[in-house]
Amino acid sequence: MLIGQFWGTSAAEGIPAPYCRCPVCLEAREKGGIYSRMRSCFRLSDKIMLDLGADAVAQSMRFGDITDIEHVLITHTHDDHLNPHMLMEAMWSKRFRKPIHYYFTEEAFEITRLWMDSPWILKGMLRSWVEEGIVVFHQLKFGERTKVGDVFVTPFRGNHKGNVEPNSAMYLVELPDGRSLFYGLDSGKWLPETLEAVKKLHLDIFISEATAGIHFGRYGGHMCLEQVRELVGELFDSGAITPETKVYLTHINHGSSHDQMLEAVDALDFPLPVTVAVDGMKIF
Ligand SMILES: [Zn+2]
Ligand SMILES: [Zn+2]
Ligand SMILES: [Zn+2]
Repeated sequence: MLIGQFWGTSAAEGIPAPYCRCPVCLEAREKGGIYSRMRSCFRLSDKIMLDLGADAVAQSMRFGDITDIEHVLITHTHDDHLNPHMLMEAMWSKRFRKPIHYYFTEEAFEITRLWMDSPWILKGMLRSWVEEGIVVFHQLKFGERTKVGDVFVTPFRGNHKGNVEPNSAMYLVELPDGRSLFYGLDSGKWLPETLEAVKKLHLDIFISEATAGIHFGRYGGHMCLEQVRELVGELFDSGAITPETKVYLTHINHGSSHDQMLEAVDALDFPLPVTVAVDGMKIF
């Protein structure tokens, strides 16, 4: 069953950020609601999650349990997207559910060995959970199409360095109903090989990071709205994005308020309507 809900739409610090009294964080503390953002996470379906990061427990309290989750696609190994504690939560429920499958791309898979070898992560118990089949780790290859539950996924190289890997993963997901969804988080200006490959696709739903928001400039490892506008323009010109594509922006840092994002998106004159995502927004 497809769900398609943003469980978090912030960058690594969250909004309001714990150590911050900037105007954006003050507004979020005062108003709450759409002005506050938890760390980026997307519930694709009853069984599939895109990332399960720093706010996963709080997000589950707000949006519902994840008892039925069987597959977690990890974009990269930064803590805002990947929280080892969630494996402890899965282990606690082992008697009531199937194994949980985690997917990492190429070098990012190395984090699973580091975790299993560490007495400091999950009390050093992870190796035995893997041996018992409670947790199953999978290594995906960039550009290779793989079946995950009832969807097909293809990871593309992002321009963003993780804790152990040189490239984050941006995922093309082919949904059971025939639609395609692209989840492009944590990447600076796209690598030429990724841009060329994605230009050849047809995307029904395009989700992009817009980390630096209104702070126009050239960012390494993330994009501002101006860069996202350029990217959407290129994908529109190539036909990968069409007027029917639904475009959403997420992974937004505390440099931009929700209202500032809306104004800036308007001013940038995108070739099609673009939605600034908020926590809890359902898109299917
Ligand atoms: Zn991030
Ligand atoms: Zn702030
Ligand atoms: Zn990151």
